[in-house]
Amino acid sequence: MQLLKERILKDGTVKPGNVLKVDSFLNHQMDISLINEIGKEFKSRFSECPITKILTIEASGIGIACITAQYFNVPVIFAKKTQSLNLDGDMYTTKVQSFTHKKVYDVILSKKFLGPDDHVLLIDDFLANGCALLGLIDIVRESGATLEGAGIVIEKGFQEGGDRIRNMGIRLESLAIIDSMSDDSLTFRD
Ligand code: 5GP
Repeated sequence: MQLLKERILKDGTVKPGNVLKVDSFLNHQMDISLINEIGKEFKSRFSECPITKILTIEASGIGIACITAQYFNVPVIFAKKTQSLNLDGDMYTTKVQSFTHKKVYDVILSKKFLGPDDHVLLIDDFLANGCALLGLIDIVRESGATLEGAGIVIEKGFQEGGDRIRNMGIRLESLAIIDSMSDDSLTFRD
């Protein structure tokens, strides 16, 4: 998505540890007209899929998922990160290793909001090693819902997440795939 790539080149900054900072337009301050275009793009890429729910993970996926959901006319559900695991059986649970915080979280989603009749689109801001997405995939599997695919705003193609997800046979649509990045250069895959 050309508009997104141009914005990454203009306003993104590379931080130590392979972290791309895009907090001036995507995940802290949010440029809603850009995110509207992102939502439209996800809709056009998954237009033939009978999506009934958009699933993301807190926190930075939520805003993007909500704007995207307006184009699909479906609810958004988000998996919550928690320290205290509720084991009463009402929750789908999984574990996710956080790329940015280097911690393992328990992640939960209420069983009320996802079941075997649902067709799910996963949405997140970044794909790095794939842990966040794998956690969401786990939850979808546990629920018996159909996974239609995953939409990612920025995939860091030099990390293993993209290959892991695609090798599982899951449809993955990333709007910008970064092939390499350093302090003074950033290149995209075509
Ligand atoms: P993964 O689980 O694929 O290793 O990492 C994805 C998650 O880590 C995303 O939900 C995102 O919040 C965060 N993340 C991974 N890489 C980056 C990055 O380069 N910049 C920012 N801002 N967040 C990232």
